[in-house]
Amino acid sequence: MVSSQLELGQSSKSHLDGFLARYRLQHNEDMQDGINYILVLDASGRIVMGSRRAWDGLSVVDPLLSRTETNDEVFAQIRDCFASSSVTSSQSLSCLRTHSGLYFPTAESYTLGLPFRISGRDRSEDNKAYLVLVNFDPSIASGQLGWELLSLLVISILYVTSVLGLLALLLYRSLLPAVRSFAEVDDLTGLMNRRSCMDLAIRLLAQGEKDNLPYILAILDLDHFKAINDTYGHQCGDFVLREVSNALTRSLHGTDLLARLGGEEFIVMAQCSSAHALLVMERLRSEVELLKPQWEGRTMNVTLSIGLTSTEQLGYNLNHLYAQADAALYRAKDQGRNRICWSSSAEGDMMVDPWAPGRVWRSSFAPIEPLDSRTDP
Ligand code: GH3
Ligand code: MG
Ligand code: MG
Repeated sequence: MVSSQLELGQSSKSHLDGFLARYRLQHNEDMQDGINYILVLDASGRIVMGSRRAWDGLSVVDPLLSRTETNDEVFAQIRDCFASSSVTSSQSLSCLRTHSGLYFPTAESYTLGLPFRISGRDRSEDNKAYLVLVNFDPSIASGQLGWELLSLLVISILYVTSVLGLLALLLYRSLLPAVRSFAEVDDLTGLMNRRSCMDLAIRLLAQGEKDNLPYILAILDLDHFKAINDTYGHQCGDFVLREVSNALTRSLHGTDLLARLGGEEFIVMAQCSSAHALLVMERLRSEVELLKPQWEGRTMNVTLSIGLTSTEQLGYNLNHLYAQADAALYRAKDQGRNRICWSSSAEGDMMVDPWAPGRVWRSSFAPIEPLDSRTDP
C-alpha cells in the first residue's frame, strides 16, 4: 500500500503537526472512522506525537502503551525492534525500514507503518527519521456501519409498516362495510347468513337467559322446493327464495331474527312465549301459502314446514334448541308438510291448532303445480 520511505520537508512536518492536532481535537478513542490510533515515532522509538495525548513522550516499549497495544502484531514487531536496538539513530532506522511501506492486516485490525525523514534547513531537525504508525480497526468502522445499517433497517421497517398500516386502515375503513356484508349477509336473499345468525342467536339466548325472557326458535323449510327448480328452472327457484324471504320479513317484527340457513331453509328466533309461538309461526306459514309467486306468467303454490322449539321447554342452549327444531321439522315433513310441528318437550310432541291451542292442527298439503292451465314440462 505504501511502498517507499518518504522524505518530508519542514512544511510537511507542520502539516502533519496540524493534522494530528486537529485529529486529536476531533476524535476520541474508538473513533468512528476506524482509526484506532496514530503514532509518530522518532528514531529512538519515542512518541513524538500520538492520537492520544497521554502517550506523547512515551517510548513504544513503555508498559503504559504496550498494555493497550501489544496484541497488535505489527506494533509488537516495531516495539520489539525498538526494544532490541540500542538507541542510535541509524540502528533504529534500519529497524524502521523493516516495516517500510508494509500493510499488515489482521483479523481485527491492521497497522500501516510509514517511515519518513524530515529534511529541514535547521541542522537539528535535518535527517531525522520518523515512523508514522496508523492502526485501523475495521470492526470499529464496520461496527459503526452495522449500526447505521441497523438503524436504516429499523427506519425502513417502521416506514414500511406505517405505510402498510395506513393502507390497511384505509382499506379496512372503505372495505369494511362490503366485507362485513359479504361475511354476514346471504347474497341471494339479503337476509342474515347462517354464521352471523348463529353468533347473534347465541348472544340473544344468553341475554334472554339472564333476563329470564322466553325465546322461540324455528326452522322453516320450503316443501318440495326441488320440484320448482326441476320444473321451472334454477332461476325461478332463486326468485321463489327471494319472494319467500320478503314475505317472511314482512310477517316478522324488526327485532325478530330471520336468516337463511342455506338452500331453502330459514331460521327464525323471536322473543316470544310458547303460548304465542304458534300464532307467530302460523302467520309465517299462511303468508307463504298465500304468496303464490308468479314466474313467467305461471303461478306457483309454495308452502313451508316448520319445526318449532321454545326456551320455556328446552332451555337456552342453541345447539339443543336447533337439534330439536330440526327433528320437529322432520316430523312436520313426515306428517304431510305445510304445517308446524312442536319439538318433543314437556308439553309433548304436538301439532297444535293455533286458533284452538291444545288441539292437534292439520294443514292440507298442496302439491306444487302451476295454477294456470298450461301444461307442465
Ligand atoms: P322437502 O319438502 O322434503 O324439503 O323437499 P325439497 O325438494 O324442498 O328438499 P330437497 O332437500 O330434496 O331439495 C332442496 C332443493 O333446494 C335442492 C336444491 O337444488 C335446491 N336449492 C338449494 N339451494 C338453492 C338455491 O340457492 N337456489 C335454488 N334455485 N335452489 C336451491
Ligand atoms: Mg331442506
Ligand atoms: Mg325443502
